[in-house]
Formats: sequence, structure tokens, C-alpha cells
Amino acid sequence: MPKKVCSFCGRSEKETKLLITGLNGYICENCAQQAYEIALSAGVLNPLPYEAKEDANKKYEIKKVPKPKEIKKYLDQYVIGQDDAKKTLAVSVYNHYKRLQQSVEDDGVEIEKSNIIMVGSTGTGKTLLARTIAKMLEVPFTIVDATVFTEAGYVGEDVESILSRLLQVANFDVAAAEKGIVFVDEIDKIARKSDNPSITRDVSGEGVQQSLLKLLEGTIVNVPPQGGRKHPDQEYIHVDTKNILFICGGAFDGIESKIAQRLNTHVVGYNSVQNVRRLNKNEMMQYVLPQDLKSFGLIPELIGRLPVLTYLNPLDKPALRRILVEPKNSIVKQYIKLFEIDGIELTFTEESLDFIVDKAMEYKLGARGLRSIVEAVMMDAMFEKPSSRTKKFEVTQEYAKTQIEKAHLQKLESA
Ligand code: ADP
Repeated sequence: MPKKVCSFCGRSEKETKLLITGLNGYICENCAQQAYEIALSAGVLNPLPYEAKEDANKKYEIKKVPKPKEIKKYLDQYVIGQDDAKKTLAVSVYNHYKRLQQSVEDDGVEIEKSNIIMVGSTGTGKTLLARTIAKMLEVPFTIVDATVFTEAGYVGEDVESILSRLLQVANFDVAAAEKGIVFVDEIDKIARKSDNPSITRDVSGEGVQQSLLKLLEGTIVNVPPQGGRKHPDQEYIHVDTKNILFICGGAFDGIESKIAQRLNTHVVGYNSVQNVRRLNKNEMMQYVLPQDLKSFGLIPELIGRLPVLTYLNPLDKPALRRILVEPKNSIVKQYIKLFEIDGIELTFTEESLDFIVDKAMEYKLGARGLRSIVEAVMMDAMFEKPSSRTKKFEVTQEYAKTQIEKAHLQKLESA
């Protein structure tokens, strides 16, 4: 047996942390690592499980937190308007991830977590904003609907199932999930029903809010890996929610009149009273304050745990018109691409787009209506054109109108 030194680098036993003995020589920990890496890059070895896990970590690693202005710029590519919400979100998300990188020991100043609440009617871009931010930061993201939750032990989902979903999105990488973003939709629909005279328990209101409150504040939760209800003899994954950013959203229908009441004014200006400001409904949202949310049955503690409050404006005609064509993956761009794959050049006349917007305004579904209308307009063409020899196809207002009427007729017939 040769002298007890690494046969590859020549370091003596003293100089290494570990010297593995072979038949005719030795190898130190450094050389073993190098050999492993060489074998990996030669493709003759599979990565060890922990190595694969590190890769998953890397996927979600926040390398450099973009500055608020960069975040806003990114959001501008996908979300039309809603500048106030974008700014507020950009700043709070930036602060949140800065907070994760701080070390408390330095000076004892600990930046507190700021969960966010967005108020705005349906289809104005709340989910889109949250999703786009998560995409930009490459952090695990999940959307949950607050109305499916019930207090533990009752039919429905436990609030903690939020974390099972986040874990699934993060490929069970707990560290990544613990820095993720959760969007809780319909937060306005989990009112406590305290004036309810019934003696039955309020399983969907206050209890749910209390559980949600704990998650928002930061707690360690035992999460069943497969989701679903907890079993006594199941193994749990421990997830700390301290650094998870919660963004809540709700329509809070009728909040404009609450704001108006507080401002001592009326939704439509009311001149005869002194000092009354003339504001219309669409301008009212900018004055929203946390206290306006109380009348929707949210417990004050929960409102307190959502210190960043922002709003989304109802989408008017010009905004819908822009949403149709401007975002990076706008509906129109998506259809053009779909046709392009079949070698067909698809175009929309300006009038046809105006018509689609008018219809969406009629349905009062915000931008959500746009997609179903375009879908109805394009259905026949998507069915026919790929088998035809068409190379160009233009959607005119006339065509759009006929298709919509036809779609309505079919619905009536099938009803
Ligand atoms: P909310 O969460 O407010 O109910 P969403 O964000 O889910 O609404 O919006 C529904 C759809 O409408 C989105 O997928 C998006 O395509 C479109 N949309 C809504 N608001 C905007 C906006 N401001 N800019 C661009 N697209 C929007």
C-alpha cells in the first residue's frame, strides 16, 4: 500500500477531512467531489437526490430583487392601467423580499411583514397582478378561493390546504414554498355572521377568518403532503408561513357607497350640502380606507394583518379596448398566433374590436367577458379555416355581429 496520501492530489491525511481507502490508493473529499462532477458532466452518472433538490431550489431562488420601478415596468407589459395598485404592489413586494434578506441581529430593527389587500370589482386584474408579480420573481404562487374554506372539522377545506397547494407548486421544496406568494380571492365573502340569531356555529365566517389570521401573522403549520384533511397518523411537513406573502382580493360590492358615506358625500354629486365634493362612482375607490372593509364582516384583526390596502378601478371602454390588443399576451395576439400556426394571417378591423368591447361592457364582466366574446366570434372560423385553403382571414364588425347572434341563438336552442 502506498503512503497515506490522496493518490490524486497528493495531500496527506492531515491536510484532508476524509481520506477514503481503495485497493491500491486513497482519495480525499475534494477529489471525490471533482470526480463526481466530471462523471456528471460526462453524463454517466445521475445527480444525487439532494443535488436535484438544489436544482429545484435554484429555480425559485430570488437572486436579485427587482426595484419597484422595474416591477411596475414589468407589470405594465401585462396589465393595463391600475397604476395605483401597480405602484403599491411593487413597493410592498420589494419591501417584502428585502425583509427576507435582512439580518435582524445587526441593529434589532425588524421589518414587519406587509400582506396586501386589493379591492376592486371582478375582472379588473387583481389575480392577473398577483400572478404576474409571482412570475417575475419566480417564486411559487397559488390562488385560493376563500369561500371554499370552513372551520376545521366541517365539510369543506381547511384553511391550511393553502399550504399543501403551495408545496405542490414548489415541488415540495419547503424552503421555496416558505417564500412564496398566495393570492386569496373573494376575501369579502367570508363575513362573520355575528347578527345571525341562529345558535348553530358560524363555521364559515369568523372561524375561517381566525385560521387565516394565524397564517397571515406567521405560524408553523403541519401540512399533510397530499392535501385534504388531516389524519392522526399521517406524516406532516412543517411549513413556516412567516415569510409567505399573502395578497388578498375582493370585489367588496357596494364599497363605493360606504366610502361616500364616510366622505360625507354622495356617489353622484350633491350640490346643496356645503363642502360636499362631487365625485362619481369610478373615482370613489381611491379614497378607500381599512375601516370601509369592516362593514363586510371582516374581523378587525384580519384587516390589521393586511396593512397594505390598494384598489383597482372599474375598467371603462378605452381600458377594455387596450386590454384586447396591448398586453404582451393579449387575447387578440393569442388568436393571431393560433391562426399563424395554420399559416393563416388573421386580422381584426378596428370596428370589430370596438364591437367586441361594446358587448363586454354590456355583460358587465370586466375584462373577463372579452375572452368569451372573442371565443364566440372565432369559434366557427377556428373550426372551418384549418381545413380550408385560406391564407388570410379578416374579422369585420359584420362577421363578429353575426357570430355573436348565432352563438346566442344556439344557447337559446340548447336551453
Ligand atoms: P379579478 O381577479 O380582478 O376578478 P382577473 O385578474 O382574473 O380579475 O382578470 C380576468 C382576466 O381579464 C385576466 O385573465 C386578464 O386577461 C383580463 N384582465 C383583467 N384586468 C386586466 C387589466 N387591467 N389588464 C389586462 N388584462 C386584464
